[in-house]
Amino acid sequence: MGQFRRGGRGGGRQVQQAAPKPFEFVSLPARVNPKKPTGHDRYYEKHVTGQIQGTIEALSPIHIGSGIIDLGRDVELIKTAVRASGNIVIPGSSLKGVIRSVVEAISESCICKVSNRIRRAVPRNFLECRRKDNLCVACRMFGAMGFQGNIAIQDAPQTYGKFETKFVPELYEPGRYQSRMQDIPGRKFYMHGKEASGETPVEACEVGSTFRFVVQVDNLTPAEWGLLFTALGHHPEHPFKLKIGGAKPVCFGSIYFQLEQIQVEEQTRDRYLDWDVRPESAKTGEQLEEWKRECTAQATNSLIKQDLLTELAQILQYPNDRHCPSGLY
Ligand SMILES: [Zn+2]
Repeated sequence: MGQFRRGGRGGGRQVQQAAPKPFEFVSLPARVNPKKPTGHDRYYEKHVTGQIQGTIEALSPIHIGSGIIDLGRDVELIKTAVRASGNIVIPGSSLKGVIRSVVEAISESCICKVSNRIRRAVPRNFLECRRKDNLCVACRMFGAMGFQGNIAIQDAPQTYGKFETKFVPELYEPGRYQSRMQDIPGRKFYMHGKEASGETPVEACEVGSTFRFVVQVDNLTPAEWGLLFTALGHHPEHPFKLKIGGAKPVCFGSIYFQLEQIQVEEQTRDRYLDWDVRPESAKTGEQLEEWKRECTAQATNSLIKQDLLTELAQILQYPNDRHCPSGLY
């Protein structure tokens, strides 16, 4: 816990005690381990195609900002939420980003999709994969420059719960990692906790809201499916909950992915022989649990770095009774 002065020149009188950081870093793996990716256009014997269907539950308020501030309402200057055809949604792109960041953190993957400010501090051997015939597992699953990726996630519409105005604090964090000399210490994740309130109005989905989500998975190995299940918080020994959207430092955006049904295409080879034959089996209940166990066991033995998963599960443990900062941190 440190002390910082705010208010620029002559602001010495206003001294605020910084709160503990609302985030921690997951260490980087020893290396990135790229391979040739699986294409979309042919049959691979050991690969599985299918669809995950389920419900996302809001464990704390969720605010996915549209970037638009509305001036003409009862509450002035409210930060509005994303809508699709007038309905509140969690955009598929946001879900993909969040799940990808977990896959990256627990495997030998590059550091992708970071701001220019952060990119300067990324160690050279962890820079984004550039060759589409040689990609890390996160790039193979979620895509890279010139490669589409094998996972597609739809927008998740809100199916239950109110939509309300919440007030969040304006936060201040002293600028860091701006020089080339200081490499980032790892991948940053915000912890869960008790939400803080403040003065800035935002549109948010209330706690207990639900959203319908669908993930299309194309030609992944069972181990890659296992990595995906783990990233959704479903590893049997290291469960955790994810965070999404804005106001993460003040404990917004805690979510739980409930997996309800998995459609697996049997005999995927048939897709390429006869377009009429596409038998599917739907896994629910105990069958679904068994498939998850099988896949996560394979992922644990091959793709997952145990120590990194342990670190991440610790940071993202839920529930967590810490208090979120309401000012400087
Ligand atoms: Zn990569």
